Amino acid sequence: MAFSDPKILELIKAYRPIWALSSSGALLEWDLEVNMPERASESRGVIMAELALIRQDRMKSVYPILEEASARSKDLNDEERGVVRILERMKKYYTRIPPELLEEEQRLAVEATIVWREARKKSDFNQFKPYLERILALKIKEAEKLGYENHPYNAMLDLGEEGFTVEDMDSMFSRMIPGLKKILEKTRVAKKFPSRHPLEEIKYDVGSMGVVNREITEILDMPKDRFRMDTSTHPFMTGTSRDDIRITTRYEGVDFRNTMYSVIHESGHAIYELQLDEKLNYTPVSQAASTGFHESQSRFWENIIGRSKGFVTLIKPLLMKNLSFLAPYDDDNELYQYVNLVRPGLIRVDADELTYNFHIALRYEIEKKLFDGKLSVGELPSMWNDTMSDYLGITPHNDAEGVLQDIHWSGGSWGYFPTYSLGNIIGGMIWHNIRKDLDLEELAAKGNFTPIKTWLYDRIHRWGAIYPPKELARKTLGESYNPERMLQYLEQKYVGK
Ligand code: MG
Repeated sequence: MAFSDPKILELIKAYRPIWALSSSGALLEWDLEVNMPERASESRGVIMAELALIRQDRMKSVYPILEEASARSKDLNDEERGVVRILERMKKYYTRIPPELLEEEQRLAVEATIVWREARKKSDFNQFKPYLERILALKIKEAEKLGYENHPYNAMLDLGEEGFTVEDMDSMFSRMIPGLKKILEKTRVAKKFPSRHPLEEIKYDVGSMGVVNREITEILDMPKDRFRMDTSTHPFMTGTSRDDIRITTRYEGVDFRNTMYSVIHESGHAIYELQLDEKLNYTPVSQAASTGFHESQSRFWENIIGRSKGFVTLIKPLLMKNLSFLAPYDDDNELYQYVNLVRPGLIRVDADELTYNFHIALRYEIEKKLFDGKLSVGELPSMWNDTMSDYLGITPHNDAEGVLQDIHWSGGSWGYFPTYSLGNIIGGMIWHNIRKDLDLEELAAKGNFTPIKTWLYDRIHRWGAIYPPKELARKTLGESYNPERMLQYLEQKYVGK
C-alpha cells in the first residue's frame, strides 16, 4: 500500500475533486484542438477559465489538511512525502500569485498571440515589440511574487522543472555548445549523413500515411483499450487518467518523416503516462516527475529508438507496402540516412538531433538576459541573428524565420524552452544506462519493445512525481543531469563507425 497515513488519506480525498477538474479541463482542451467547431472558441474560453477558478477555490479546502500533514513529515513514507511536496508547490503558486495578475496574463496572451500571428505573416518584429514588452513586464512581476534565489528567471525555470536554476542551465550549455560544435564539424567532414535527400520533396497520400501511422502505434504495442490517436494542427499528448491517454499528429502532405516521427514522439510521452504506477491513481504524484523528464521519454523513443538502424529495418516493409514512391529507395541504409539528415537550419521545429539544442541555447540566453535586464526587447533581433551566425553559421533573412518563429513568448510560456534540451540530456543519460542491460539495436530490429518499456518503468515511470526530478535522476540514472552522455551518444551515432 503506497498510502496509509490517515492525514495523507484525508489529503488525497480532498484533492480528488481538484484532480477531476484538471482532467475535465484536459479533455476540453483536447476537444478544442481535435473536434470543436470554430465559433465555439469564445464560449470554450469562458468554460475553461471558470473551471480554473473553481479549481483554485477548491484548493483552499486542501490547505488546512496540508498544513497538518506537512508537520508530520518525518512519520511519512516517500510516496506520502511526495504528495505533500507537490501540493505545497501548488499552494505556493495559487497563494502567491494574485488572481488579477493571472487574469491579466491570460488576456494579454490571447491578444498578443493574434498580433504575433499577424506580425509573423508580415515578418515585422516592431509590430509585436510593444506586446512582448508588456508580457515580459508581467512575467517579471510573476517571478517577484513567486520569489526566487539569485536570479529572477529561476522562478520561471522552477515552474516546469522543480529546483532547476540558471546555474544548472549555464553549466550544461557551456559544456554542450562546444561539444556539439565539434561533433557537427566532424559530421560535415565525414559526410556519413547527407544534408539533403530527394524524399524531402515527395508528396504522400494522407490516407496511406494514416495507415502507416496506425501500424506504427501497433508496432510500439500501444494498448488499444487505453489509447487513441487523432489529427490536430500541432501534435500533442494528453489524457484524463492513465487509462485514457491520447495523442495527435498532423499531415503536411510532403516529407513523410515529419508525421511519422510526431507519432513516435507523442507515443513516447504516452508510454510514460500509461506506465505510471496504478497505486498512485487520483493522487498529486500520479504525473511525470517534470517537463524535462516527460520530454526525455518522447525524445528517447523518437530519436534513440525511432531513428536507429534497427527500427528503420523493422518498419521498412510497412513503408514499402504503403508508400509506392519509396520503390527507388528500397535500401535500409538509404532510409536510415533520410531519417537522419543533418542540416543546420533557421527553424527550430525542423532541426535535426545535432542542431536542435543550439536553437534552445539561443532562446534560453535571450529569456535569461531579458529577465535580468541585460538585454532589452529592442535588441532581440540583432542578438538573435548574431547568435545564430555564431552557433550554426547561418543568419535569418527576416524576422519570420528568426525571432518571430515560435508561439511560446506570445502565449506566455517562459522558462519552457530549456526543458526541451533537458529532455535530450536525460534521454542521453537513459541511453548510457540502458545499454548496460539491453541491446537496443537488436530489440528495435525485432520489434521487441517490452524489455525497453519494463526498464523505463522500473527507473522512471513507476515513480511518478514522488521524487523531485534531480533526485530521481540521481537515484535511478546514477547522476544528476549530465550533458556528456548525450554528447557521447551523438558522437557515436554521427561520427563513429
Ligand atoms: Mg514533446
